[in-house]
Amino acid sequence: MTTIYNFSAGPAVLPKEVLQQAAAEMLDWHGSGMSVMEMSHRGAEFMSIMDAAQRDLRDLLAIPENYKILFLQGGGLGENAIVPMNLMGRRPDAPVDFIHTGSWSGKSIKEAQKYATVNVAASAASNGFTAIPARESWQLSKDAAYVHLCTNETIDGVEYHFVPDVAEQTGGAPIVADMSSHILSRVIDVSAYGVIFGGAQKNIGPAGLTLVIVREDLLGHALPVCPSAFDWKIVADNGSMYNTPPTYAIYIAGLVFQWLKRQGGVAAMEAQNIAKASLLYDYLDSTDFYENRVAKECRSRMNVPFFLKDESLNAEFLASAKAQGLLQLKGHKSVGGMRASIYNAMPLAGVQALVHFMREFASTHS
Ligand code: PMP
Repeated sequence: MTTIYNFSAGPAVLPKEVLQQAAAEMLDWHGSGMSVMEMSHRGAEFMSIMDAAQRDLRDLLAIPENYKILFLQGGGLGENAIVPMNLMGRRPDAPVDFIHTGSWSGKSIKEAQKYATVNVAASAASNGFTAIPARESWQLSKDAAYVHLCTNETIDGVEYHFVPDVAEQTGGAPIVADMSSHILSRVIDVSAYGVIFGGAQKNIGPAGLTLVIVREDLLGHALPVCPSAFDWKIVADNGSMYNTPPTYAIYIAGLVFQWLKRQGGVAAMEAQNIAKASLLYDYLDSTDFYENRVAKECRSRMNVPFFLKDESLNAEFLASAKAQGLLQLKGHKSVGGMRASIYNAMPLAGVQALVHFMREFASTHS
C-alpha cells in the first residue's frame, strides 16, 4: 500500500501514534466505561486530562508561572476580536500597532479596527508579502496599546526568525503574537510576549480548540462589550471551565503534548523541522522548474509555498502527487501554486518522498 503523506495547511496531519491511542481509548477511557466525548467537563476523569494537558504544555514551552494557559473556542480569527476586546480597556485611547506581513495579519488588522485605532507600523504589501519589513523601518506608536505580529504567515510562507524589540519605542507595549501555524515547532522565549494565541488545528490537535497564553498583568482589562466566555480573566479564574471547553480537542491536544515529550520536546522538534525545511528549500533553490519567492531569511519552516514555472502543469502535478500518496499540496486560492505544510507530525520521510516526486516530475516534464 502507498504510504500517505498529508501536506494540508490545517486541519493537518496528526501523529499516527496519537490517532492510534485515541482509537484504542475511544469507547472506554482508562476503564472509566466512557468515551472522553461523553464525560462531564467537571468530572474527575476529564479534570485529570485537562490538568495533564496544561502541565505538559507548560513544560514543553517553559511557560513562566506568571503566564496563564487558556483553552478557548473561536479559532485564530475569533482571537482577532477577542484580543482587542481584552486589552483595550487597559489603554482605551492608545493605538494598536500592526506589522502587516500577509493574509492572516491582514485579517487581524481589519478585525481590530472595530475595537481600536489601528496603526499599520509596517507593511510588506509592496513586496507581495515575500519578506518581513526591516525592523528599522517600523513606524511604531510611542504609546501603543500593544503590537500585533503574525509570527508565521501560513498562506504566504513567511516566518519571523527573530523576536523584535518593541518595548523601548512603544512605552513598554506588549507583543501579541498569532502563532497558529508554528507554535511548538521551535523553541520560544514566552517571556518576550504579552499574549500568544493560536488555533489548534496545525501543530496542536483538532480544530475547535484555541490556545491563549497570556501574561497575568494583562488580565482584567476587558472592554464592557467583551462576552464573558471570552473574557480572559473570567476564563483564567475558572481554569478554562467558565463554559464547556472543547473537551475532546483538549484530550487529543494532550496526547500530542505527550507525544512531543516522547520525541524529545520542542528543541528536538525544531532540529527535525530545520532538517525537513532545508531539504525542501535546498531542492527548490537548485532547480529552475519550481520556485519559492520568499526572502531566504524569512522563509517558513512550516508552510512552504512554491510555484511551477509552467503553471499549465499544475493540475497534472497535483494529480500525479496524489496518485503517489502526496496529498493536499494545492496552494491557497489567494496565491495559487502549491504549498507543502510540514508541521511537527510530518516525518522527514514525507519531505523526502515529496522532493523525490518533485524531482521525477521535473525530469519528465522539462
Ligand atoms: N492565523 C493564522 C496564522 C492561521 O494560519 C489561521 C488559519 N489558517 C488563522 C489565523 C485562522 O484560524 P481559524 O480558522 O482557526 O479561525
